[in-house]
Amino acid sequence: MHNNDASGNERFLCDFCHQPWSEDRAMVEGHRGSLICANCLSIAYTEIIHLKLGSGVSPDETCVLCLEHGRDEAHWRSPMHENSIACKRCIKQSAGVLHKDADIDWTKPRDPADA
Ligand SMILES: [Zn+2]
Ligand SMILES: [Zn+2]
Repeated sequence: MHNNDASGNERFLCDFCHQPWSEDRAMVEGHRGSLICANCLSIAYTEIIHLKLGSGVSPDETCVLCLEHGRDEAHWRSPMHENSIACKRCIKQSAGVLHKDADIDWTKPRDPADA
């Protein structure tokens, strides 16, 4: 999310943990200025893609990143801000973006079962 009352990096906050953008906290932007940081993405990716956790959402809830109702699709819900949810598709897509960005030191989390 964007906080227009703040300045500099503090203007850009992750929708899922409300931490500001920083050199070591890369972010991926969704629709309407929504943001997910690399830390949250790591947790979300592990839980949804590897551990297959997550559940569908009620009809009045939408993924904050794509603003769509993927009711039956697995969603990750922020442990800190329970109204902030991300669908599996956005988690995959955002992870792909960060993973490929050569300027950002982030790779997709490994499957804990492989460790
Ligand atoms: Zn975050
Ligand atoms: Zn989504």
